[in-house]
Amino acid sequence: MAELQALASAPATRKGPPCSIGAFLARTQPSTADALRIALNTPTIAAKAIADTLARHGETVTAYTVARHRRRGETNGCRCAR
Ligand SMILES: [Zn+2]
Repeated sequence: MAELQALASAPATRKGPPCSIGAFLARTQPSTADALRIALNTPTIAAKAIADTLARHGETVTAYTVARHRRRGETNGCRCAR
């Protein structure tokens, strides 16, 4: 099937700028980034709780962005590195 072969040989298109969560992780203090990564990796912590916490510190991040970052690397996730 030529279409599938074309897909396989096409250059990776999953490159792009990090989402606002990824950008925040890159510029914030390491201790804050670590705490946020732990929260992101804890499924029982709601995306909205994380978004609300970041918002209180001046980061305009929506729960949707948090959820999308949790799915990073998947087709419906953001483009941040896993
Ligand atoms: Zn991201």
